[in-house]
Amino acid sequence: MKYISTRLKSSKKTFEEAILQGLADDGGLYVPETLPVFSSQDLEKLRHLSYEDLFFEITKDFVGDEIYHKIYRDIIQKSYKNFSHPAIAPLKQLNQNEFLLELFHGPTLAFKDFALQFLGNLLNYFLQKNNEKIVIIGATSGDTGSAAIQGCMACDNAQIFILHPHNKVSEVQRKQMTTILAPNVVNIAIKGNFDDCQAMVKKMFASQEFLKGKKMVAVNSINWARIMAQIVYYFYASLRLGATRFNPVSFSVPTGNFGDIYAGFLAKKMGLPVKRLLIATNSNDILTRFINNNDYSKHEMIETISPSMNIQVSSNFERMLFDIHRELKKEKNLANLMQDFEFKGALKVDKDVLTKIKETFSSYTINDQETKNTIHQFYQKTSETLDPHTAVAVLASQKFMQSSDYEKEYIISIATAHPAKFPEAIVQAGLGQPSLPIFLKDLLDKEERMDILDKDLETIKTFISHKV
Ligand SMILES: *Cc1c(COP(=O)(O)O)cnc(C)c1O
Repeated sequence: MKYISTRLKSSKKTFEEAILQGLADDGGLYVPETLPVFSSQDLEKLRHLSYEDLFFEITKDFVGDEIYHKIYRDIIQKSYKNFSHPAIAPLKQLNQNEFLLELFHGPTLAFKDFALQFLGNLLNYFLQKNNEKIVIIGATSGDTGSAAIQGCMACDNAQIFILHPHNKVSEVQRKQMTTILAPNVVNIAIKGNFDDCQAMVKKMFASQEFLKGKKMVAVNSINWARIMAQIVYYFYASLRLGATRFNPVSFSVPTGNFGDIYAGFLAKKMGLPVKRLLIATNSNDILTRFINNNDYSKHEMIETISPSMNIQVSSNFERMLFDIHRELKKEKNLANLMQDFEFKGALKVDKDVLTKIKETFSSYTINDQETKNTIHQFYQKTSETLDPHTAVAVLASQKFMQSSDYEKEYIISIATAHPAKFPEAIVQAGLGQPSLPIFLKDLLDKEERMDILDKDLETIKTFISHKV
């Protein structure tokens, strides 16, 4: 399988190159040149596979002959052995048509473990094979950082620098990063917000001489391996629920950088019977404004109780726009559209593009008060506590069920985090302090290590340069 850039100006890459490079030279994101497609008969054969076996079948064509099958199966096996639930991604029925897909049983209690445990093992394999050392630099609004550290810390050939916005992640999130004292892990708290961190990581990519010849690798959701790993749980959940061509399911996905929901979109393109994908956002509503009014424009960031979705611009949105333009045979227009966006902070798409997008996507914006009410009411009804991101998805699915687009299909809300990661929000919703699972019980008492730096690119580069 070869990978092309969404801006079409970079040369084609192998799987390994696409993973180790992250962003393409022309500023675009890598996407596979073609997608494997599964027929109804194929899907029947996949229906009863274990999570790991399904992962192999769904993703093997994306890897092609670059990794021996036996080794690739080992990488997959290792990536899911640290999950605390035997089903890995358990599906919970809420009532006749509503389900919750619990993706928070990994080591850091958020769905990002699904992709980052895998990416860590994949990098470890490629780096050992090449005898190569790399520097991972990532920005996090909270969950990516700990998942990246947990996924990559065993990789001796990688040094990991994670930038998080100082005082803007929850205490549990911070401690999940800063209590990892492995020598190849460095946590940097930046006096700024998440977008400041992300912007600086992008600039470091563009000028890597401060890394003294080592290559910088991106582990944020622009990395293709993360998207690829996430496609699997859409198949797993839908097949378990008996989805067929005549009986498709819909998903409600709490969305920030558009990585998770983009994986759902690819699953649909690969033949999975998915009817609609609901984009569920907090008050940072760029995606809802786009779907409803063709207005994709940056606004000020709003701090909310679902911080992992506090994002002004969704990186993976470009991949979806590329695919839709490609379906309409005008993918050559995308580079200009994205460059326009980089200048003006706003873009509009052609009418036929938006119409096509709306065939699959609906978008709902849920504010903090609605999120708290949802957490509260859900607890009263079921005695279960939703984390604030999941609550956004659950309320979006309920709003969708009132709309004329809803045709009584099964609807699966994606539960992206364990409530104990966001105790402040749970308490604000009027519930008691949620407790951490046993394996993290002593987290808050552990020793922490981090450096606090100004949001100044040169300061941060110098700091990192001294350590590589
Ligand atoms: C990262 C994250 C999201 C948003 O996922 P994207 O792939 O960025 O859209 C939602 N919920 C939680 C808990 C997250 O950590």
